[in-house]
Amino acid sequence: MARLEPRKQLGRGTIEVICGSMFSGKSEELIRRLRRAEIAKQRVQIFKPGVDDRFAEDHIVSHNQQRLPSSRVPDTATLVAHVDPEAEVIGIDEAQFFDDGLVEVCQNLAAAGRRVIVAGLDKDYRGQPFEPMPAMLAVAEYITKTLAICVQCGEPANFSQRLTSSRERVVVGADEVYEARCRHCFEPGDDA
Ligand code: ADP
Ligand code: ZN
Repeated sequence: MARLEPRKQLGRGTIEVICGSMFSGKSEELIRRLRRAEIAKQRVQIFKPGVDDRFAEDHIVSHNQQRLPSSRVPDTATLVAHVDPEAEVIGIDEAQFFDDGLVEVCQNLAAAGRRVIVAGLDKDYRGQPFEPMPAMLAVAEYITKTLAICVQCGEPANFSQRLTSSRERVVVGADEVYEARCRHCFEPGDDA
C-alpha cells in the first residue's frame, strides 16, 4: 500500500480545547491527538509556557510519563515568532499559564488553516475560572472536559485541591501540593 505523503495544503482551521482539573488526563489526551496527527504524516508543532524568558527545547509530559518533544516559550509573542509556516497541527499545553493574547493567537492560527489543540486547567486552586481558558472555550469548535478521580471518595473529580496554605495563583513545581477532588470533597479555603 502507498505510504501517505505529507499534505502540502493546510486544511480548514479549527480550535479544540481539552480542559479539566489536575490529573484529569489533559496532557495524556493532547499527546494522544498529536501522536495520531504524526501518524497521519501531518506536520506537528508543540508549545508550552516557560518560567523564564528563554525559548528552549523541552517536552510535554503527562502524569503517567507519556511525553512528546515541545518548545518552551515565555509568552505568546515568542510562540508566534516560532510557528513553523509549514505546521499543520499546533499543540499547546498548560495554556492557563499564557497571557490573554493566546485567544487571538489561536484564532489567527486557525484562520490560517491550522488545527489548534489547546490543553489547560479551566479552574485555579480556588475553583475560579483560570484565564485565558474561559475565552478559549468560547471560541473553540470542539471542547473536551476531562475529569480526574477524587482521591477522597473515588467519584469523578472536577477540582484541584491545594494542600498548602499558599495564596499565590501559581505555585511552581506543584504536582505534589495538589490532589484531585470532587465538588463534594473540595475545600476552596477561606479566601475563596
Ligand atoms: P493532566 O494533564 O490533566 O494533569 P495527565 O494527562 O498529566 O493529567 O495525567 C493523567 C494520569 O494521571 C492518569 O492517566 C493517571 O495515570 C494519573 N493519575 C494520578 N492521579 C490521578 C487521579 N486522582 N485521577 C485520575 N488520574 C490520576
Ligand atoms: Zn470526593
